[in-house]
Amino acid sequence: MGNIDYDKKACVFNIQRYSIHDGPGIRTIVFIKGCPLRCKWCFNPESQDPRPTKDFGSMMSVADVYKQIKKDEVIYRRSGGGITFSGGEALTQPDFVEELIKVCNANGWTTAVETEGYISERTITRIIPKLDYVLLDIKAIPEDVHRRGTGVSNHRILKNALLINQLAKNVVVRVPVIPTFNYSKKQINYICEFSKYLNNVNTLHLLPYMTVGRKKYKKLGRKYEMGDIAPLSEDDLLPLKEIVEEHGFNCVLGG
Ligand code: SF4
Repeated sequence: MGNIDYDKKACVFNIQRYSIHDGPGIRTIVFIKGCPLRCKWCFNPESQDPRPTKDFGSMMSVADVYKQIKKDEVIYRRSGGGITFSGGEALTQPDFVEELIKVCNANGWTTAVETEGYISERTITRIIPKLDYVLLDIKAIPEDVHRRGTGVSNHRILKNALLINQLAKNVVVRVPVIPTFNYSKKQINYICEFSKYLNNVNTLHLLPYMTVGRKKYKKLGRKYEMGDIAPLSEDDLLPLKEIVEEHGFNCVLGG
């Protein structure tokens, strides 16, 4: 496996084995720190800061990660699985991800990324064509709604979605469904309308709001802005699933 820079480093805050929700087959997820968004519901708030902090994340080299992900290579082969890069926003560290993609390719493991799309066009054109699957978050279409929930405008994200659609081998749109933000037929309808411009997309995943991150905010000394809003169940999303299907997409709940 020549031509791979095994010394390249990034801050990794978790490596999760046996995932079945983040791309095809059985996968290991490499969570990379650093995210430019500040979603009010973020259940990995410790992932937002790109640096290692007191309890969260450590600098790992490509060689360190390889050692960990290699443990399940038989499972990847048998299940058609592989490695998913997540975060934070994994593509804030394109050099690191690119080297790991080379490692996966050399071993015959499939590669996927979960991205919120708030990244440079340069990174998209460089990395996206090299991946087997892209799980692209689209959170809201009205700019003011998006800004209120995530802290940033969605102009760049929607423009990038069109580019990712052109360049990705396989792309799925993922929508975290969040009360007080986009948990309505109207908002999901907007997202479906936009997704029709993404001619390579035929599946939308609706992910119900979870409160698993709530305790972490306290540990980080931050306020949890969602307060005590209850989590959603997959049943709560059934009326929204119907809308997605009426628009002609496959809809997966909790995918
Ligand atoms: S995009 Fe994801 S990681 Fe970033 S703040 Fe939002 S929920 Fe958290």
